[in-house]
Amino acid sequence: MKQVISVKDLQDMVRGGKDLNNLPAEALLTPSARDFLRELEGPAAYKNSAGNATPAPPEAKPVTSKSSKQEIDAFFNSPRIQELKHQLCDIGRRLWQREYVDGNGGNLAIRVAEDIALCTPTLVSKGFMQPDDMCFVDLDGNQLCSGNGKKRTSEILMHLQIMKRQPRAVATVHCHPPYSTGFAVAGVEPPSCMIPEYEVFSSVAIAPYRTPGTPEMGALVADLVDKHNTILMANHGVVSWSHNNLEDAYFKMEILEAYCRTVLVASQLGKPVNTMTPAQLQDLLKIKQSLGIPDPRIGLKECELCDNNEWRPGVTCAIPGIQSSNGDQPAAPDAQAEALVQAITDQIMSQTK
Ligand SMILES: [Zn+2]
Repeated sequence: MKQVISVKDLQDMVRGGKDLNNLPAEALLTPSARDFLRELEGPAAYKNSAGNATPAPPEAKPVTSKSSKQEIDAFFNSPRIQELKHQLCDIGRRLWQREYVDGNGGNLAIRVAEDIALCTPTLVSKGFMQPDDMCFVDLDGNQLCSGNGKKRTSEILMHLQIMKRQPRAVATVHCHPPYSTGFAVAGVEPPSCMIPEYEVFSSVAIAPYRTPGTPEMGALVADLVDKHNTILMANHGVVSWSHNNLEDAYFKMEILEAYCRTVLVASQLGKPVNTMTPAQLQDLLKIKQSLGIPDPRIGLKECELCDNNEWRPGVTCAIPGIQSSNGDQPAAPDAQAEALVQAITDQIMSQTK
């Protein structure tokens, strides 16, 4: 039987001074153990398909866009960056196979240093990229390196504006998945309170249309990335960011596209759709918050979650909201607040009997 390694096992190993780079290759890691390793490794760490960590070799010294050309070139050709170039090809292939990109559309970026990003080239199908096609850019979009002379994607500014505005963003994905893009073209934000996966992992908003690749387009998207990780770009497509890695940013696309498709099917079945209750959504938002995923609804009053002016007009809410102790970051709901909600609910229920 394969060994299962939990986060507690890893914490014990760290406490005991053991090297986490030498975990048994065939061992299974629990999801929280994988998160623990990811946090230890920092941004852009790579996981193989089994979820086992492949630790990045230590960098001699941090490279920035101001480093010498020689140092930047050496970093561009380092094993760590080579691995990330392969990841970009892999995710590009998955986007193309799922028909989330068309022609030369779509682009990807990974933040690899304080002010350097690795990105896909322009005018190449995302399904058929080679590692040498990838480019290094500084955070203003100036190209620093390329493996074979290709030019960086024309939409890089949007990715970089997301990274500048959202320091937690380590990877970004932009593509044109048909169902999601349909919602973006219609200017319809997908309705909420229907499917757990979408509520936990996605936080969606719509940015107005501007010409692709312009700083104006990037600025409108960047305005939303504080509270949202998946942005529908009106009359264009979708862009997502992740605080974990490139594959996680890509997962945001799969989740949104599956959701939009499901909502469309449900709306055609001739019956009103059922939604989850605010209490059920509250549980999902607690999970979301523990995963470090932003959502403008975190901290809202429970009865506002599925029935409030923003999500469903005309409903007023009398339950006190969950306030944070420092006033800015909403605090996780505590036992006292939950007891209060329960007491009020009981009171209302007893009155209706
Ligand atoms: Zn596009």
